[in-house]
Amino acid sequence: MTPMTTPPYESRRDPHPAPRTPSEREAILAEPGFGVHFTDHMFLAEWTPDSGWRDARVVPYGPLSIDPATAVLHYAQEIFEGLKAYSHADGSVWLFRPEENAARLRRSAHRLALPELPDEWFLGSIRDLVTADRAWVPHGGETSLYLRPFMFASEVFLGVRPSKHVTYSVIASPAGAYFPGGVRPVSIWLSSDYSRAASGGTGAAKCGGNYAASLLPQQEAIDNGCAQVAFLDAEKHRWVEELGGMNLYFVQSDGSIVTPELTGSILEGITRDSILQIARDLGHEVVERRVSIDEWRDGTADGTITEVFACGTAAVVTPVGALKWDGGQAVAGDGEAGKVTMDVRSALVDLQYGRADDPHGWMRQV
Ligand code: PMP
Repeated sequence: MTPMTTPPYESRRDPHPAPRTPSEREAILAEPGFGVHFTDHMFLAEWTPDSGWRDARVVPYGPLSIDPATAVLHYAQEIFEGLKAYSHADGSVWLFRPEENAARLRRSAHRLALPELPDEWFLGSIRDLVTADRAWVPHGGETSLYLRPFMFASEVFLGVRPSKHVTYSVIASPAGAYFPGGVRPVSIWLSSDYSRAASGGTGAAKCGGNYAASLLPQQEAIDNGCAQVAFLDAEKHRWVEELGGMNLYFVQSDGSIVTPELTGSILEGITRDSILQIARDLGHEVVERRVSIDEWRDGTADGTITEVFACGTAAVVTPVGALKWDGGQAVAGDGEAGKVTMDVRSALVDLQYGRADDPHGWMRQV
C-alpha cells in the first residue's frame, strides 16, 4: 500500500528548550524502571493516500490532541514495534537488527490495512530520535533506551474502512536492567479458557488488539503469582504457541533446542530468530516444530525437557521455572536458571553490549 508519492526520507527538527535539566535527567537515568519516563523528543510523520508519507519531524515530547471520533479509538487500527538502543563501553550507541523491526512493521501494516512505512523512513526515524536524545541512552549494566515506534488510524471518521489519514510516531524510554539482582526464573500461567490469536487472525502482527485480548488472562496469571501467561493454539488447545509478550524455547536432555514453529498466529520474535542462529553457533541442534502441552508437562516430569526459557527484546532471555495451571504445575529441571539458557543469554547480551564479536553483522551504529 505504499504509494509512489512517498518522497525520499528527510526529517526536520523543531528546536526547543530542554524541558529537564541535566541533573533531572541523571536522576531519572539512575533509576529508570521500564516504560515510565520518556525522553525530551518524539518523532512524527503523517500519511494520506494522495501524498504518501510526509512531514517527518522530531519535536518536543508531549501529548497528542485526538478528536473523539479518531478511528483508532473505535476500531483499534494500530500497530507498533519495540527495539532498544545500547550504549557500548566507548560511549558509542548501537541498535540490534533494526531492519528486522522495519520489516515486521511492514508486515503488521499489511495485515491491519495500514500503509507500509518504507524501511528508509523507519530507520531514519529511529536514527534521528536517538541522535536527538542521545544523552538519554543509559550507561552500564543491562540498561538501554527502549524505542517504541507505532502507527495508528488518525482519520476523524466513524465508518468501518481503512483510515485515510495515518500517523507514525516513535517515542523513547530509558530502561533499567530487567533483572537488577541477577537473572531469576519466572513462573508462567497456562491459560485454559482464553486464546491469544486464531488461524487467519492477527497473531503474527504486532497490533494493539492482540495485547488487549491478552490482558484478562494476563491478570489471571498475576492473580496466580505468575509473571506471564502461556497461550495454546485456538483450535485444539493442544499446541504451545507463545507467552503474552515473549516466545518460548525448550532445551532437551540430548542438548538439542526446540521452539514452536511459526504458524501465522505466533509473533515472529526477532530475539527468537536470533537465538535460532546463536544456539547453532554454540553447537546445539535447533529444531522448529510443534510442541504440545502434554510434551511440556510430561517432558519436564521425565527429564526429557531440562530447561525452558522465554525470549523477547525487553528481558532478552528469561528462564521459566514452573508452568502452573489450576491444580498443578510442571517444573523444568530443578526450577533454577539452566546452563544452556544462561549461555544463550550471555552470548546475546554480550553481542548487544559490544563485548563480543558480531559474526552475523547484526549491530548498527547510530
Ligand atoms: N511474542 C509477543 C506476543 C511479543 O509481544 C513479543 C515482544 N515483541 C515477542 C514475542 C518477542 O519479540 P521480539 O523478540 O521481537 O521482541
